[in-house]
Amino acid sequence: MTIRWYPGHMGKALAKVAEAIRRIDVIIEVLDARLPLSSSNNRLEELRSNKPCIKVLNKNDLADPAVTKAWVRHLERESGVCALPLSARVHADAKQLIKLCQKTVPHRGRPGWPLRVMVFGIPNTGKSTLINTMAGKCMAKVGDKPAITVCGQQIDLRNGIILSDTPGLLWPDLQDQVAAYRLATSGAIGAGAFDYTCVGLFAAGFMMQRYPERIREHYRLAELPDSPAAILEAIGRRLGCLITGGEVDLHRAAEAFLRELRAGKIGRVSFEEPDQEVVCPSR
Ligand code: GDP
Repeated sequence: MTIRWYPGHMGKALAKVAEAIRRIDVIIEVLDARLPLSSSNNRLEELRSNKPCIKVLNKNDLADPAVTKAWVRHLERESGVCALPLSARVHADAKQLIKLCQKTVPHRGRPGWPLRVMVFGIPNTGKSTLINTMAGKCMAKVGDKPAITVCGQQIDLRNGIILSDTPGLLWPDLQDQVAAYRLATSGAIGAGAFDYTCVGLFAAGFMMQRYPERIREHYRLAELPDSPAAILEAIGRRLGCLITGGEVDLHRAAEAFLRELRAGKIGRVSFEEPDQEVVCPSR
């Protein structure tokens, strides 16, 4: 099944973003550390031209540490880019990010000459959480559901930095359905836009290839089944997602599996690696 997801208010974002970029010194692009490519917006790359950019690999607490290291090396190959893995809820991480902003543009950050920083990213990457932590208080609205954010606010961090939220929401490139399935697996896409069973099968197929032992151990399976459908069925049986007659309710099994996967219950998992082969989603 094809995933389509364009919350309406995202349409006019790009013109506003282009205008805003001219008035700032450092771009912070918030990516999901588990899928830095699929959670990026390639138009931002064009609009940024040569402005310094810090790519924050957020939700580092959920991502595979070895893969995140590889992503940092990969992203920093690009000129003007620094990559910083962090967890947006952690104050020490936010402080490290503030220091990196100051180091990136050392000639700004004085009275009358503030360091102007803007936070960009697709929905649900953790922008509001990061802004709150950087500001040290509850300024931006944090949502468990995708596509909730407060736009266009400016926060004086009182350390020479003026922090702004993006003036328009960016969105992922869902032309690439592999990226769309990875985003749905991560929880970034609104639940109404995809079929749980299809995404559950995609995620089971991915885990079977990349982290088979995690699945076997977490769900206490004697052996790992040899197809995504058989894995989802085994998970459903283990979690008691059954319908009358004792058959597995695949939709409920997929929901429960994705919930555990997204929350890091099956360990720290990255859904994509730099320069990796593509696994096709079930349609
Ligand atoms: P926004 O749409 O980009 O502003 O994203 P939010 O800040 O609303 O965050 C989306 C969801 O991700 C919320 O449920 C946050 O609690 C969660 N989140 C944000 N940062 C982190 C993080 O570093 N680790 C984890 N595990 N969850 C996070």
